[in-house]
Amino acid sequence: MSSRLVLVINCGSSSIKFALRREGDSQPLISGLAEQLESPSACLHWKAGSLKQTRELPGADHQTALTALLPLIGEHADQPLSAVGHRVVHGGEHFTGASLIDEQVLQAIEASAPLAPLHNPANLIGIRAAMLVFDQVPHTAIFDTAFHQSMPPHAYRYALPENLYREQGVRRYGFHGTSHRYVSRQASLLLGKPSGSGAWLTAHLGNGCSSCAILDDHSLDTSMGLTPLEGLVMGTRSGDVDPNLYAHLHRALGWDIPRIENLLNRESGLLGLSGLSNDMRTLEEAHKQGHAGATLAIEVFCYRLARSLAGLTAALPRLDGLIFTGGIGENSPLIRAKTVAHLQVLGLSVDPAANQQLPRGQAGQIQQAGSPAILVIPTDEERQIADESLALLDAPGA
Ligand code: AMP
Repeated sequence: MSSRLVLVINCGSSSIKFALRREGDSQPLISGLAEQLESPSACLHWKAGSLKQTRELPGADHQTALTALLPLIGEHADQPLSAVGHRVVHGGEHFTGASLIDEQVLQAIEASAPLAPLHNPANLIGIRAAMLVFDQVPHTAIFDTAFHQSMPPHAYRYALPENLYREQGVRRYGFHGTSHRYVSRQASLLLGKPSGSGAWLTAHLGNGCSSCAILDDHSLDTSMGLTPLEGLVMGTRSGDVDPNLYAHLHRALGWDIPRIENLLNRESGLLGLSGLSNDMRTLEEAHKQGHAGATLAIEVFCYRLARSLAGLTAALPRLDGLIFTGGIGENSPLIRAKTVAHLQVLGLSVDPAANQQLPRGQAGQIQQAGSPAILVIPTDEERQIADESLALLDAPGA
């Protein structure tokens, strides 16, 4: 029998990203996006090999869109699905790994919703719809937070009164766990180490950005916290600011909480600093043309990232390598070089030619002789979700 198939699903409030993965393959058999769901312009885009197609699905909800996937999957699958793997943003303290979804798991995801009010309810809508459409297949949940549940209390506790932690779950959780785990496992393979071993710093730099300290496949600390706002400068998120900013803006400008939340999540980061764009490609172009805001945004982004990475070394006994991933980490030699330039104290240095010449989409090493390894590794969260789903099915008692 050929390798097993997993359908990976990532549901937002009005969208569904999906990919049909074959065990062990680096590329999906078919992948796509249903978007603008529950609106007249709802549609489904998909890609199989180099062939791209779109189908209009006016007014479709999640379940209708998933039903529209059935014939596509039938066309590309040579055997029944072994699992449907769902990305879930927040698993709170309840989930330390992938879980087979049953009613209890659904309730626990619901219970974590106050910690991720935008994401968990949307994930749940998708899971429930998918369980109706793919009713003969085991469904698994893979949580963005689960990988970081190995953080010790000195990394995950805020210096706040105990009852806020005990009663409200106020602590650091971390996100992007699937990506941090995937690239650190790939790094151990690339450097010829036993699978999953090594002491790594990872920088996932996309629209959202986070850094992580990983020892032997365990997250020991990470830059995001209770929510994905903490830590690094991101596309439109501020990352760390003085928490008293809320009080200051309220007193100085009369702003209420929603206004300040919007500022910190949607008007800040690269966009706020540059006054131009949240897109790093646009900022790099503008920086070359001498745009002062773009230059400042790039400088702050790299310095704050370096400061976070240096801080995370406190969690590690040694450093086997620094890993860049995500749209920016994989594609921007400028950001990699500027960040590492702030990390001389760790003995890290980039080889300029290797950094510039690394082909897009390819994993490779870009350090100078004598420096700890600096790796660029394309992330593949869907593959990690498919792998973790199958590992769960193979686990004793599953
Ligand atoms: P992601 O969320 O992982 O898709 O990453 C999105 C970010 O990656 C955006 O800020 C893009 O501008 C950035 N990005 C993609 N390609 C490049 C590139 N060639 N150079 C610099 N940034 C890039």
